[in-house]
Amino acid sequence: MKEKQLRLEGICRYYGEITAVEDVDLTVEQGEFLVLLGPSGSGKTTLLSMMGGFTEPSSGKIYIGDEDITSMPPAFRPTVTVFQDYALFPHMSVQDNVGFGLTMRRISRQERIKKVEESLDKVGLQDFGSRNIHQLSGGQRQRVALARAIAVEPAVLLLDEPLGALDLKIRHQMQEELVHLQKSLNTTFVHVTHDQDEAMGMADNIALINHGKIMDYGPPERVYLRPANLFTANFMGDSNLIEASIKSQQDGRASVVSPYGTFEVPCQLQPGASVNIVWRPEQIRAGSSDPCEGVIDLGEAKVMEVVFQGTHRQCNVCCGTKMDQELTLKMSPRSPVAEGDLLPIYALESDAVVLAD
Ligand code: ADP
Ligand code: MG
Repeated sequence: MKEKQLRLEGICRYYGEITAVEDVDLTVEQGEFLVLLGPSGSGKTTLLSMMGGFTEPSSGKIYIGDEDITSMPPAFRPTVTVFQDYALFPHMSVQDNVGFGLTMRRISRQERIKKVEESLDKVGLQDFGSRNIHQLSGGQRQRVALARAIAVEPAVLLLDEPLGALDLKIRHQMQEELVHLQKSLNTTFVHVTHDQDEAMGMADNIALINHGKIMDYGPPERVYLRPANLFTANFMGDSNLIEASIKSQQDGRASVVSPYGTFEVPCQLQPGASVNIVWRPEQIRAGSSDPCEGVIDLGEAKVMEVVFQGTHRQCNVCCGTKMDQELTLKMSPRSPVAEGDLLPIYALESDAVVLAD
């Protein structure tokens, strides 16, 4: 269904000298769950606010389907925004809060009551309609804000860090529920967060933003396992970066010189180029490797620190031919590894991501 596609073309937003959003092109398909992910101050709220019509772009165009909505006021757009602070009316009951948008749209009383009930049902608050807002927990308030948003059946739901104020357990529960809700409604969601785990767990696609620009875009697996650049590699989880230079390259295989010796990786760059080879902590393995194709022997490592983290043991090791490199490994929680141990380590060629400096 192409007709409700949300499209941004060359969107910029300046505040005096500050560039909050710079030349963003972005397409969100009907029924997609898009996450805008980035550090604080990267421009996520500004971008979302332009989609919702609360901030006007300095330049560029926003479309829903074929319609140019760049200058359309929020109330006329087929979008609804859920804010982090919920923005509920504290003196009104739950059902009056949820029905507020419907009243504004002059929906008949009968229809309104039905839609309020349906919406409360969808967020699991069917028995809470007559409560007051101050009688609800943080998680329940967020559900009311969500019910109010879906009651008007927007084409696009915009959510600005909606789970930021909730404690970890409720947040995880709400993440799952939000995804189920989105899939069952088949409404387009654009969800802002600074938390990469939240983004990976929820998104169909992630747009990773830094300094107002999209640094990387794609499904979570691709963005995590094949980061497009060093910013992405560092922001999405932990990374081990190995600095190396390309000695020779033929048919997409390069021989690289590194502090771990010389080895081969898949790479298109030319000889002389400086690169960073990225392996995630879980991709560096301890133990003797059989010298077979696709396995890169990284020599011996000395364990400097072991931190038990429940699901794994994080090990910081010293390694490289001069023992002057540091890597982080994730090992089994049952592993008997201890400080001072010497371990052979290796990694797989197929896991290596080679990024230009
Ligand atoms: P995020 O939501 O990713 O934390 P924002 O979109 O809120 O980032 O902000 C992006 C940049 O724009 C920041 O440098 C911020 O200080 C600036 N900014 C946002 N809103 C305004 C404003 N109304 N006036 C001036 N600067 C702003
Ligand atoms: Mg923000």
